[in-house]
Amino acid sequence: MAEKSFNAFEMAQKQFDKVADMIGLDEGTRELLRNPLREYHFSIPVRMDDGSVKVFRGFRVQHNDARGPAKGGIRFHPQETVDTVRALAMWMTWKTAVADLPLGGGKGGVICDPHNLSPREQEQISRGWVRQVFKNVGPTADVPAPDVMTNAQHMLWMLDEFEALTGGRYPGFITGKPVGMGGSLGRTEATGYGLIFTVREAMKHLNMKIEESVASVQGFGNVAQYAIEKYTQLGGKVICVSSWDQNDQTSYAFRKMEGIDLQELLGITDRFGGIDKDKARELGYEVLPGDQWLDQDVDVLLPCALENQITADNVERISKRVKLIAEGANGPTTPEADAVLEKRGVFVVPDFLANAGGVTCSYFEQVQSNMNFYWPKEEVLERLDDKMTSAFWSVANLADKRKLYMRDAAYIIAIERVAQACKDRGWV
Ligand code: GLU
Repeated sequence: MAEKSFNAFEMAQKQFDKVADMIGLDEGTRELLRNPLREYHFSIPVRMDDGSVKVFRGFRVQHNDARGPAKGGIRFHPQETVDTVRALAMWMTWKTAVADLPLGGGKGGVICDPHNLSPREQEQISRGWVRQVFKNVGPTADVPAPDVMTNAQHMLWMLDEFEALTGGRYPGFITGKPVGMGGSLGRTEATGYGLIFTVREAMKHLNMKIEESVASVQGFGNVAQYAIEKYTQLGGKVICVSSWDQNDQTSYAFRKMEGIDLQELLGITDRFGGIDKDKARELGYEVLPGDQWLDQDVDVLLPCALENQITADNVERISKRVKLIAEGANGPTTPEADAVLEKRGVFVVPDFLANAGGVTCSYFEQVQSNMNFYWPKEEVLERLDDKMTSAFWSVANLADKRKLYMRDAAYIIAIERVAQACKDRGWV
């Protein structure tokens, strides 16, 4: 499904340039914001379980920290590239800005495939990543978090390494930690729940009823699972979900017209979100080619996997019934496909607004960790809902007022906030 020549960073710059032109951003600020402030590239040598040494490539990119410490996840993925990390770091800057968090944007990654690594090997990669950059990150400089194929356990190994190297206890160094070890209640659910809070608000805006709506979801990892949970709790029905099959190295879509059952599917899913095809068939699911999540007859599409999924090649396959797309993934829609959606009048809640729930809850975790005082789950989720709701309406109101596409409106708010911070600091 992926376009061969796709480069996420070029796409992020293209989106930025379009809006920089719209708002007449001055040359100096434009040059500063279309590239990362700093980046670190390094090697992580790991003694593998078979006794050999393997060297993994790691990265940390700090796109901008004018509004506060850089913030963003660390992704473990075999197809990771520095340009993907640069794009994701830039999107983090816009994400924290549109959610109005006092944070900047950064991202990290390691080229590796956790499917083929033992827990001990993953621990060594996590600790090795911290050993290479600990002088350049930290609670007041750059605060990492989980992303694709990293979880609370990786975060705790990284924290432990950071604390061993720096000689103190700094739970605010990293977020997405296990609850009870500096983690926040609600953090695991936050991205998926936050996504659906924006869907709920978008539906109010569009005069749609969630109880009468039907959705199709791409992906079955952390974001998708909690998005499905919240969407169905609010009365919506999900009829199709796609998931990556590691054995076949392709994805499949799982469809049940009367509505998929989240718990039932979780019972036949591995820790990476891979759904077992045979068991799914036994439970009455149709197993379809993976890209068919996109052309279902539904009201709502929720891409919750990776970047570059809705492209010029497949955007026309989206059903005319689809009125709303909320991007749980980062960068799922290419600018060419985006132009088609805009023309068609599809309401898009853009990635860095739609999936800002994760980093918003990370911010709450950071606050709790730095105070060493933890909030009840209801309080975390209420604050999350407030933040997502107000971020959504600040973008939707601007889009309405100036007749803008939602993505452009979100970019205008984010870029103006970051540009202002750079100006106030005297950088530009
Ligand atoms: N990796 C998540 C994202 O893309 C969360 C980042 C964070 O919590 O800092 O937004």
